[in-house]
Amino acid sequence: MFNGRYGMDELGRFMLIVSAVCLVLNLFIHIRILWVAAIILLILVYSRAFSRFYDKRRAENMKYLEMKNKFTGGRTSGGFAKPGPKPKNDGKRVLICPYCKEKLRVPVGAGTIKINCPHCHKQFEETV
Ligand SMILES: [Zn+2]
Repeated sequence: MFNGRYGMDELGRFMLIVSAVCLVLNLFIHIRILWVAAIILLILVYSRAFSRFYDKRRAENMKYLEMKNKFTGGRTSGGFAKPGPKPKNDGKRVLICPYCKEKLRVPVGAGTIKINCPHCHKQFEETV
């Protein structure tokens, strides 16, 4: 059915949600414009979905995504603004295995932990 057609994209889904909201609102508050807006949106959604002008539809979708990013930008946009992973040394302490003197990294502040030495496979306890 959608072969060779543009199909649904982010903008299409957004328009569907808005039209659904309009229809539901129209059930409670009978404002004709809501119903009309919902029908117009639905027509737009389907005419876009069946469109063969991929480039135009894609450009519209990109504009929508840009606008959406402006509104949500920095706050909820996929964690781009979050700080990166901490350096490896951060929160770690180097212990020396009492059996083989191998250096081992352990997390600081974990209390007394049992450490399995990956080098000699012996176990020892250490408070960090
Ligand atoms: Zn060891």
